Amino acid sequence: MSACGKCFDPSGARFGVPTYPWRFAPDGYATRRQLRAAGLRPGGQPVAAQVMRRHRGRRAGVQVAYLYRVDRAKPVRPMTSRKWGALALAMLARRTCPKCRITYSYCIPTSLGMCLLCTYPEEQRAA
Ligand SMILES: [Zn+2]
Repeated sequence: MSACGKCFDPSGARFGVPTYPWRFAPDGYATRRQLRAAGLRPGGQPVAAQVMRRHRGRRAGVQVAYLYRVDRAKPVRPMTSRKWGALALAMLARRTCPKCRITYSYCIPTSLGMCLLCTYPEEQRAA
């Protein structure tokens, strides 16, 4: 940590936001990329902290990564559950016979348009 002592500013007094040396971010904080990898996004929250390290290639001499609070992050696709709900309803409809209204564990054959019992009532009675 002594390699970049000026990067250590947990109170944010120098940089405006809490600043930590690279790879010394406290628990509960993540970069946008790390959030993305977890299926999350900052969700409109302001930058909560940053990590900083010396970087020869940068004109400023440092590389900065902004950190966001994981507990304030939101799922990347908030519509997902609703989409799944619609999909489940569609699947339920495809598994429900329009004639006898029984829901089966398999999809009603679209070629028949109804369940096997309704399609072949005679054979079922014979059996
Ligand atoms: Zn049926």
